[in-house]
Amino acid sequence: MRVLVIGSANLDLVYEVERLPAPGETVLAAGSASYAGGKGNNQAVAAVRAGADTRFIAALGRDDAGDRLAAEARAAGITLLDRRVDASTGTAAILVDRRGENSIVVDSGANARLTDLSAAEREAVAAADVLVLQLETPLDTVAEAVRVARAAGTRVVLNAAPAAPVPPPVLRGADVLIVNEHEAAALAGPGADPMTALTAHGCAVVITLGAGGALVGSPGEDPVPVLSYTVDAVDTTGAGDTFVGAFAAALSGDGVEALVAATGFATAAAAISVQRKGAVPSIPTLEEVREFRD
Ligand code: ADP
Repeated sequence: MRVLVIGSANLDLVYEVERLPAPGETVLAAGSASYAGGKGNNQAVAAVRAGADTRFIAALGRDDAGDRLAAEARAAGITLLDRRVDASTGTAAILVDRRGENSIVVDSGANARLTDLSAAEREAVAAADVLVLQLETPLDTVAEAVRVARAAGTRVVLNAAPAAPVPPPVLRGADVLIVNEHEAAALAGPGADPMTALTAHGCAVVITLGAGGALVGSPGEDPVPVLSYTVDAVDTTGAGDTFVGAFAAALSGDGVEALVAATGFATAAAAISVQRKGAVPSIPTLEEVREFRD
């Protein structure tokens, strides 16, 4: 499976806190560490660890953080097609509490410069089996990538995260939309049943439900629930990204069965990831997922 991810790359600074601070409050961290992150980066790592031939288009600054992210992506086995731009590499401050809940602040930095796909980048879209997109990079580029993918017959997996409005043509252009409950409700609008409203755009929809697993929907079909695994979650940072990257790597064939099979694989990968700290360090390999499911 050839997966192309176009998206964000950030350097994450993760703080372990007893509880998340209230406004105006200072809390002391039990420890801190920096990791490669960003939804695009995390999903690319999840796809390559799940066994896909993975390319990743990202905008990085000409700085130490950019060098570190590029080196780590390549060391993970990702073919990185990086742009170096005159902006700081994106950063994120992540607070994780004792129960594994998190609060995150992101400075997009270089990610905001991922505009206008080059000829080589458009070719990479056309050469992929599955294109994976999120909303941490400019929406115009997401829309452009969707158009190129559709024209080339590349399947589009759109992770509409973080929650933001998405123009209907982009939703229509997606083969599979993956959102968590919060993003699903925001996209569907008030009062609507999210699955009904989102599948009305003509795309398949996977709504992730945290410890509740996921719901797989297709236009005109009853949604199919996929249960999660019961595990002790220590840090859910990156669970959604692990899910999306693993899903893309596992997506082969058509119809609801193929979606449910990819969702089952992604649910197992995500269940492993929540039992470990950090985002990238927590993402499992194909062998780990296979062992876990046996
Ligand atoms: P996000 O991290 O984007 O908010 P979710 O919280 O829905 O997304 O989690 C994504 C997926 O990760 C879920 O569909 C599920 O498979 C897995 N997951 C998340 N939390 C847990 C948990 N506590 N136990 C088992 N699996 C989990």
